[in-house]
Amino acid sequence: MNMNYCTISRYHKYKKTGVCVLLQVITSINDIKQSIKTQKENHSTIGFVPTMGALHEGHLGLIRQAKKENDTVVVSIFVNPLQFGKNEDFKHYPRTFDNDCKLLSQVGVDIVFKPEASEMYPDGFCTSIIPEHLENKLCGKSRPGHFRGVAVVVLKLLNLIKPDIAYFGQKDFQQTVVIKRLVSDLHVDVTIKVLPTIRDQNGLALSSRNAYLSETEKNDALCLYKALTKAQAMVNAGIMNTEEIVREMEKIITHCKSATIDYISVVDPETFESETKVRSGDVALLAVRIGKTRLIDNIILTFLMVLAWFSLC
Ligand code: AMP
Repeated sequence: MNMNYCTISRYHKYKKTGVCVLLQVITSINDIKQSIKTQKENHSTIGFVPTMGALHEGHLGLIRQAKKENDTVVVSIFVNPLQFGKNEDFKHYPRTFDNDCKLLSQVGVDIVFKPEASEMYPDGFCTSIIPEHLENKLCGKSRPGHFRGVAVVVLKLLNLIKPDIAYFGQKDFQQTVVIKRLVSDLHVDVTIKVLPTIRDQNGLALSSRNAYLSETEKNDALCLYKALTKAQAMVNAGIMNTEEIVREMEKIITHCKSATIDYISVVDPETFESETKVRSGDVALLAVRIGKTRLIDNIILTFLMVLAWFSLC
């Protein structure tokens, strides 16, 4: 490939062969197209992990899985303006590109695609995608337009990278459902894999936005995971009434002074319709502000085998 086509970063890594290979940093649409064309000509399978950067172990888990399953791994870093509301944290979202590149080199990523917003959305850009039925529930209620922005950027990235497999985290559960629907509805030729949420040793879901939290707030933020584990414990104890479960979850969250509930819900995992009685595979989700920081988390509720058997009788 013509070296002038892309910006090659100073970061490098060693492939298993001991040969030094570079992490390519690509910023333009033309260059990423060219690079992907070369990968396809070489019959390399491509694994893709879209991110907004400020990388942590949650992202790295997806990337490691992509490494295991593909010849080439592409990671995008793009803080997508379309998915942020007017009063949200687009401007202040953590941007740590140098450190991100170091981490990407260490885990053996081949290409990082980091376009500017003007590259992704040049003058005249006007196409939107509306994830009907899915966009105005849960997070979509308090973040109008968010999932339209997600859908557009993910489709654009899938069109550019043409991955065999794209990897997403369960932490953003609603996002994964919107993306699976988009891929199915628009016949995008890619396999979507969703991997479990990576947490710290106390259960706090890793998130780039955790960087906003003070030490005290980090401790307060544990109420999200406590509420979710309470939900599963109630199901384990045979309590299937979702109102009762949500009430107990609310109690845990409101006990924490710095917490404000955006929503707590137990829903069908595909339609996001609220359930009155828990069914195995339903999802308990919540969005909570800790101070000024909005955090989300979820758990897929499972039945112990013996309870599942009884409910069949
Ligand atoms: P973001 O950079 O926050 O847009 O996240 C990029 C991808 O990483 C998304 O698919 C997220 O769901 C995923 N992700 C973020 N945090 C975690 C986590 N703690 N565990 C697993 N996946 C995560």
